[in-house]
Amino acid sequence: MTVRGQREGASLVLEGIGVSPGYAIGRAHLVDRHRVRVPKYHLSPGGLAGELDRFNQALTASEDQIQDIKGKLQSAGEEQVLILEAHQLMMRDDMLVEGTRQLIREQNINAEWALKKVVRSIKQIFDNIDDEYFRERRSDVDFVGDRILRNLLGGAPPSLSQVGHSAIVIAHDLSPADTAFLMRTAVLGFATDVGGKTSHTAIMARSLELPAVVGLERITEVVGTGDVLVLDGMRGRVLINPSPAEVHRYQREQMIYSARRARLDETRHEPARTKDGVNVRITGNIELPEEAQVVLEYGAEGVGLYRTEYLFMNRDTLPDEQQQYEHYRVVVERSGAHGATIRTLDLGGDKFIEPLKGHRELNPVMGLRAIRFCLREEGIFRTQLRAMLRSSAHGNLRIMLPLISSVDEIWRTKAILDDCRRQLADEGHDMAPEVPLGIMIELPSAAATADLLAREVDFFAIGTNDLIQYTLAIDRANEHVAHLYRPLHPALLRMVAFVVRSAHDAGIRVSMCGEMAGEAIYVPVLLGMGLCELSMNTVSIPIIKSVIRSVSVAECQALFRQVRDMVCADEIETKVREAVYHMLAGTDAAEVVNPGLPPESTPT
Ligand code: PEP
Ligand code: MG
Repeated sequence: MTVRGQREGASLVLEGIGVSPGYAIGRAHLVDRHRVRVPKYHLSPGGLAGELDRFNQALTASEDQIQDIKGKLQSAGEEQVLILEAHQLMMRDDMLVEGTRQLIREQNINAEWALKKVVRSIKQIFDNIDDEYFRERRSDVDFVGDRILRNLLGGAPPSLSQVGHSAIVIAHDLSPADTAFLMRTAVLGFATDVGGKTSHTAIMARSLELPAVVGLERITEVVGTGDVLVLDGMRGRVLINPSPAEVHRYQREQMIYSARRARLDETRHEPARTKDGVNVRITGNIELPEEAQVVLEYGAEGVGLYRTEYLFMNRDTLPDEQQQYEHYRVVVERSGAHGATIRTLDLGGDKFIEPLKGHRELNPVMGLRAIRFCLREEGIFRTQLRAMLRSSAHGNLRIMLPLISSVDEIWRTKAILDDCRRQLADEGHDMAPEVPLGIMIELPSAAATADLLAREVDFFAIGTNDLIQYTLAIDRANEHVAHLYRPLHPALLRMVAFVVRSAHDAGIRVSMCGEMAGEAIYVPVLLGMGLCELSMNTVSIPIIKSVIRSVSVAECQALFRQVRDMVCADEIETKVREAVYHMLAGTDAAEVVNPGLPPESTPT
């Protein structure tokens, strides 16, 4: 985070990564789950006994709370109960409990401060043990310390349900499930300490059209509930307690932005046809069934990616076949003649759900994620495939598999699908006679073998969010490596070009549904490579259509030829920005995306 301190007549400005455009002006609501501000003070004379008593009460309350949670977890796996029991044991551990009491006594300091010091020293001991298991236990120490601390401070762990309307949510981190929950609350936007541009939380913010800034590193330490904030999702900035003049300037900026968007919205139903007459199919990415209709209203031709895992979030049990069928049916019916591409469960990575919390992994991004999880938990997979096949009776459905790394995953899925189809037919269910099966190209192994995989499936969708993550080895949710996220890295350009060529050679459809497809600056290069199908978040649809109408495929091909042999991502990016700036000069799209010259300085 960059803190640009008190400028002349100006507020404190924090800089992070703008992941969802737009502005929000309002009061902060701090959802401080991970960090608790610890007060530090020396005890007044005679205050020792009272302080020790306060610490004991917090310990008892913490143990009771864990006991309570254990009681509610009757159906949980043995592992979860064991974890809770380990936490209870830790609360009776001498090093923690006696250590804290001793510090309170010896240094005459308050219990919170003493506890924080003790937790830190225990974590250091774990750090020095040369055993992965023990190092991992650091987080348990944190958890226990945090709970006692919150009881000392007299507050229950904060919950998102307390967030009111018209608030700007400030959090250390928000899970995709949290973000989905927030949409029910009509918040104005959010800002977090951590996160990257293609984290699922960021993607969710764009779908919900919530301005968002992530990767601010310490915003939860600087902002308190009730502070007035200006959140600038375009430039990735947050102004804390801005002056009236700054608020006024941003209100003006907000109005201009809304007016430009409204102008673009007016043309959103015009075709996405380039100046030289090439039609590009624009579809929408959705996380919730209701959005199928919304993407059409924004000018999309159907749904290019429905992330079904969101249906599994914020609930205590897995949805059964009938519930899933009803949801998929809504998506298929509402997405009209062009239909919907529904993706099978992509759990794991940065998306987790309550009923499967037991699946704790050291490195979930490389772990039992997506298709790997489904092929392991075949029962869950079958339920989903059956529900999808049943929904195919109501419209135009395509089924898509995430995170395919090799052909045997496709073969195994086809066998399961055939079996489900046979069973459903025996049970008398209606289904479409043919349901196209496609895969996401998200792993370097899939991209490198695209020519082979193309023989096995009906379509490809290139998922650049993961393809970039796995090719360049950058965690998409980690703000510290966000600057290395380079969609125009030569490795990526080569891979995408090869995937597109392989699909064309095999005569199958190929689209891109990663966030790269919804960023105006990249679209001309993608058209130049031969991509004619792009799927994106709702808010990008009118902008990208307008970009497409402003360029010709011939000039995009020329641009791609110019950059394809360049060796350095910086050089490619500069060339592309320059070219796109000229291509879009004077159009509505240029006004909104400002592709060549990202807006600098605070608006005046
Ligand atoms: C991708 O990886 O590009 C993609 C579209 O899938 P997700 O963002 O859901 O991982
Ligand atoms: Mg992905």
